[in-house]
Amino acid sequence: MAEAYKIIDHTYDAVVVGAGGSGLRAAMGIAETGLKVACITKVFPTRSHTVAAQGGIAASLGNMGPDHWQWHMYDTVKGSDWLGDQDAIEYLCREAPKAVYELEHFGVPFSRTEEGKIYQRAFGGMTQNMGDGPPAQRTCAAADRTGHAMLHALYQQSLKHDTDFYIEYFAIDLIMVDGACKGVIALNMEDGSIHRFRSHSVVLATGGYGRCYFSATSAHTSTGDGGGMAIRAGVPMQDMEFVQFHPTGIYGAGVLITEGARGEGGYLTNAQGERFMERYAPSAKDLASRDVVSRSMAMEIREGRGVGAEGDHINLHLNHIDPAVLHERLPGISETAKIFAGVDVTKEPIPVTPTVHYNMGGIPTNYHGEVVTLKDGDPDSVVQGLFAVGEAACVSVHGANRLGSNSLIDLVVFGRATAHRVGATIKPFTSHAPLPKGSADFALGRLDGYRHSKGGSPTAAVRGAMQKTMQANAGVFRTSEVLEEGQRKIDAVYQQMADIGIADRSMVFNTDLIETMELDNMIGQAVLTMHMAASRHESRGAHMHEDFPKRDDETWMKHSLGWFRDGSVRLDTRPVHSYTLSDEIAYIKPKARVY
Ligand SMILES: Cc1cc2nc3c(=O)[nH]c(=O)nc-3n(C[C@H](O)[C@H](O)[C@H](O)COP(=O)(O)OP(=O)(O)OC[C@H]3O[C@@H](n4cnc5c(N)ncnc54)[C@H](O)[C@@H]3O)c2cc1C
Repeated sequence: MAEAYKIIDHTYDAVVVGAGGSGLRAAMGIAETGLKVACITKVFPTRSHTVAAQGGIAASLGNMGPDHWQWHMYDTVKGSDWLGDQDAIEYLCREAPKAVYELEHFGVPFSRTEEGKIYQRAFGGMTQNMGDGPPAQRTCAAADRTGHAMLHALYQQSLKHDTDFYIEYFAIDLIMVDGACKGVIALNMEDGSIHRFRSHSVVLATGGYGRCYFSATSAHTSTGDGGGMAIRAGVPMQDMEFVQFHPTGIYGAGVLITEGARGEGGYLTNAQGERFMERYAPSAKDLASRDVVSRSMAMEIREGRGVGAEGDHINLHLNHIDPAVLHERLPGISETAKIFAGVDVTKEPIPVTPTVHYNMGGIPTNYHGEVVTLKDGDPDSVVQGLFAVGEAACVSVHGANRLGSNSLIDLVVFGRATAHRVGATIKPFTSHAPLPKGSADFALGRLDGYRHSKGGSPTAAVRGAMQKTMQANAGVFRTSEVLEEGQRKIDAVYQQMADIGIADRSMVFNTDLIETMELDNMIGQAVLTMHMAASRHESRGAHMHEDFPKRDDETWMKHSLGWFRDGSVRLDTRPVHSYTLSDEIAYIKPKARVY
């Protein structure tokens, strides 16, 4: 190693990396069981991307009409285009009402109905009566700032339960000993010190990798760091080809206009002023699921019916809705539309375009949050000591397409499940085996390599090349030709990583260094997304392959798995769980997915 770094040691029962909704729920739950827990986060907890969630959190409370968790489960399975694991989906939908009441008791200020119950709005793909009934109002909301309210409540709860926070610490790599996770190495960005956290378990709650793309609704910090660490630890990624495009990102800015806007009666029009969703999804119309709406918009634009000088976007109308309702239910987006599109929503439509919004794929886990891998023929083999929750994970409850408002509920249900599992498997005061010599060498070697890199490519240039390639070649529409070109291009971008050169050699608040490590985390996931998309010869959920326009359950009813090491990709599959947890609901058999 080029330089000797001084290491500060810490010992915990569990370490959670990430302080978004999932990380905080896991951390407070673990602390509640009496275990000693640290939460490491690269941004202040309440600045995690969860803060930006607007529309709400799904649970079948039935406050606005009849509802059952079985109906929620049916919609989630159908939304996933049957790629979701039905045991995990049952767990999610059954636990959801409890998790929402728990949030209410933690202090989340939900909007209220006349009778004082939690207000619930309609969201895409949420229906009554196992898909046969009218739309269900299932999405619990705190105006259009639900994630903000949740994150603040969960942060307060974590503090109350004595979680130790390490704020503005950047986790670099996992400490793996004989295939088991024993801790994590992190850099304190404020003073440049290196910290080694030894622990019985590590929970990766680092959020999505939306920033692999050029236009994304997610925070600039959504760089898939947990996925990067997992890939380097030899863990596969699952279902990366399924990237959700949100229909309504503000044109040019990428900032999100919640689906709640259509839930409250908003609709889309093309250049001819036509409500085109009536043609693509005659019954659900503007509230069909996100992949269907995004694709319909892309189709209108491709066929020359886009709005604007370049004919490259679509209009979203809210101007027919009573301004008092807009003010009460959607105050945040009225403000966002004004700032980012210069539009007064009470008078004019908002210019929108499909924008990367959510990663269905991620680190494979079971419904206890334990990371699983394919080992010796066992597709559900647990990686000891390693957990993943939230958008970083792939449980998989969202399968090929996530329904709006199903992520926030995923964060708290599986954050809590993970805490239960950690609490059940580790006893307080369990002693730690000493770590092998050089347990920080791998992480520090990478850090040092980038710090002293002298190549000719600035990080921003390589990142830009990656983002443009992903946007152009792994977008809403995919063909064999586009994806083959995409594989060549993204592999070439990966090769450029060896030529990175950074100017700042310091250890203190070195954003150049942090951005380089974030890029290193993203690039593996970008490569896997492209290669997995090229290999899946069917269309399912968010993965629409024009040369294979049909879903092919015979060959492709399975999860993709991908490993990435030193520039080479290895792909495999694992079966979709086609069983439920209880006999209160039977396996929901595949059907055509029409809205
Ligand atoms: C604009 C927007 C609106 C949305 N609206 C909704 C909605 O209404 N309903 C819904 O269900 N879903 C919504 N989603 C999706 C949902 O909000 C996200 O999927 C979810 O909040 C992700 O939470 P998380 O806990 O996985 O991670 P995040 O909230 O993304 O937090 C990640 C955490 O990891 C930490 N971290 C990352 N890397 C490192 C590292 N190397 N070292 C240390 N710490 C690290 C960060 O500091 C941060 O604390 C929305 C998403 C966006 C982008």
